[in-house]
Amino acid sequence: MRADGVTGPQLEDPLVARLASGKETSWLRPQLDPAEQSLGACSLPAGLVEDARRRFRRFAPWFADHFPQTRAADGIIESPLERAGALQSRMGELLGAELPGTLWVKRDDTLPVSGSIKARGGFHEVLQVVEGIVESEQLGAAGSDGHRSEGAAGVRALRDPATARTLHQHGIAVGSTGNLGLSIGLLAAEFGLRATVHMSTDARPWKKDMLRSRGVEVVEHAGDFSAAVAAGRTAAGADPLTHFVDDESSLSLFAGYAVAARRLAGQLAALEVTIDESSPLFVYLPCGVGGGPGGVTYGLKQVFGDHVHCIFMEPTSAPSMVLGVRTGLHSEVSVQDIGLSGSTIADGLAVARPSRLVGEQIGGMIDGFVTVADERMAALVSVLDETHGWRVEPSATAGAIGPWRVMADAAYREARGLDARSMARAHHIVWSTGGSMVPEDEMNGYLQQGRAAQGIFYA
Ligand SMILES: *Cc1c(COP(=O)(O)O)cnc(C)c1O
Repeated sequence: MRADGVTGPQLEDPLVARLASGKETSWLRPQLDPAEQSLGACSLPAGLVEDARRRFRRFAPWFADHFPQTRAADGIIESPLERAGALQSRMGELLGAELPGTLWVKRDDTLPVSGSIKARGGFHEVLQVVEGIVESEQLGAAGSDGHRSEGAAGVRALRDPATARTLHQHGIAVGSTGNLGLSIGLLAAEFGLRATVHMSTDARPWKKDMLRSRGVEVVEHAGDFSAAVAAGRTAAGADPLTHFVDDESSLSLFAGYAVAARRLAGQLAALEVTIDESSPLFVYLPCGVGGGPGGVTYGLKQVFGDHVHCIFMEPTSAPSMVLGVRTGLHSEVSVQDIGLSGSTIADGLAVARPSRLVGEQIGGMIDGFVTVADERMAALVSVLDETHGWRVEPSATAGAIGPWRVMADAAYREARGLDARSMARAHHIVWSTGGSMVPEDEMNGYLQQGRAAQGIFYA
């Protein structure tokens, strides 16, 4: 099992050894610094999330103009929070343990335009790039209106044909396992930017086809996600007019994801759900490189402090973030170093090396990590379909097992002051991160595979 990168002492850690075995693993942290302290220790710019929220607001009229499906929400890209009562009962039966409290699903699988959580981070970075170009080229005299509707003139300038011509001279490039490429590519193409997406060969063919059909250049790379990112970074670095979206360290992606938190707080309030000491919130976030779950966690800790527990969900074959945080090595360690393959049916989560930004800045705020076997994610795709008719991709299901892992860990609950009373009043949110863009035949394949895999619950 031992490979080159990780030295003896790390493999002697029983948790790392368990991850290396490929078995499903939970690491729920009994001791965690108070959220206020961890947030204070962060060196992220103050106002990062608010700035991103305003950027989305400025571009809302543009979205409403260009994507009719966003008009009902006035151009704001957001997903519903839905009660998952049938899923809660069914999972209780399958696992032989009823879940106290209330189960919800956050439906990022239905986010407009690109159908995954990447519509948060990916779109935000494209918007920031577009604003940067408009401002640096002084198009539409952006910023010259002086007051704090800052940037609004830039958005108006997008209607000007001269702006369109300028944007087309600029490029944006990204390395992706699929969904990030889809978000960046689809949006960049709509702005008229030249978009290039570097993908690993294991990325789904339909994602490549869809991008090519919108005029996005897709470059395929042998090897995994990190190789695609590295190749993209090098290619973009040679072109001064091309911006590279770096999934392994981008603050702009991170900020876009974080905007979800305040929106979620609004949704909970509208449902008359109160989160406090006696009604804690648990959020289960599928994790690839870490930007998505890291951004959401940062935002949620700002809103709910210690009353929110953020649990990162990873595939057993690619537990990169837990490995990075546990060893403190962050992006200096990869799952191959402990003998794991890094390949999984969970597309968006097939990441061998975690984000340094997230591990270093957010690592201390993450309440726990849970790894999930591929067969379980496969089975959960059909469980979600059978219980609610929700059709999601395998990675999007990773959170569904999370609440039962918390219930199984009495030591964690005790150490964190979670007694039977507060668990009975707890709210669990499974973040469903992608799916609505998956073509029907592909989805039928997932469902078939899922039904065949349901035996994992009886093993
Ligand atoms: C990208 C992605 C994630 C995780 O986001 P990271 O920023 O890579 O951690 C989760 N689910 C889906 C469907 C994704 O595409």
